[in-house]
Amino acid sequence: MTRKLIAGNWKMNGSLADNEALLRAVLAGLPATPTADVAVCVPAPYLAQVQALCQGTALAWGAQDVSAHERGAYTGEVSAAMLRDFGCRYVIVGHSERRQYHGETDEAVAAKAQRALAAGITPIVCVGETEAQRNAGQTEAVVKRQLAAVIHTVGHCVSEIVVAYEPVWAIGTGRTATPEQAQAVHAVLRAQLRAATPSERRVRILYGGSMNAANAAALLAQPDIDGGLIGGASLKAEDFLRIVAAAA
Ligand code: PEP
Repeated sequence: MTRKLIAGNWKMNGSLADNEALLRAVLAGLPATPTADVAVCVPAPYLAQVQALCQGTALAWGAQDVSAHERGAYTGEVSAAMLRDFGCRYVIVGHSERRQYHGETDEAVAAKAQRALAAGITPIVCVGETEAQRNAGQTEAVVKRQLAAVIHTVGHCVSEIVVAYEPVWAIGTGRTATPEQAQAVHAVLRAQLRAATPSERRVRILYGGSMNAANAAALLAQPDIDGGLIGGASLKAEDFLRIVAAAA
């Protein structure tokens, strides 16, 4: 059985004081050897703080975006090598908020995933349909197109990525996909990965979209749901720890 991954996405939240309180509470409640992998993806300016607090603990950390370029004249961008300097194990790429508000294309997301992999950082590649796309019966086509771009670009390294299925209509809305709805899409993604690599079982497919302490166990019990990408609930230590406990 694949070891599950519970990853928090703090989005653009936090302060030095709030982060310290949150991380100390999470670290205090986390078993020394959790039964799942656990990580927090934090705003880039806080990576040094998170590294200092989490180094040597069971809590890994990562970033929420990475440049598609290696280095150079790209004002405001953060490179994969910079993330590696701060000990990042993961980086989220292609979150729907980046696709929606920053115009990130499937190709740009794939290039970011490739940069992360080249730097030894695991990209958490987000895919997911909007409500209009779901209503139009396009869910499967959309997520397959998004994942196909990454598979095409990273080739055999696809076995090193994490995929996060995040239906856009469920992110930050309090509306969660039912376990059956989520499982159906995860099965599609699993089949696509199986066709792309003989090592597909290594690829964890997370669910994200209003996962919380109350609904985590039912979602995580589905055969192709290998963890969660947690937004709002990752900002409350108690809720986040209850989700981690549900991933046992
Ligand atoms: C996310 O932003 O990745 C997310 C899943 O958010 P939320 O849990 O708040 O829906």
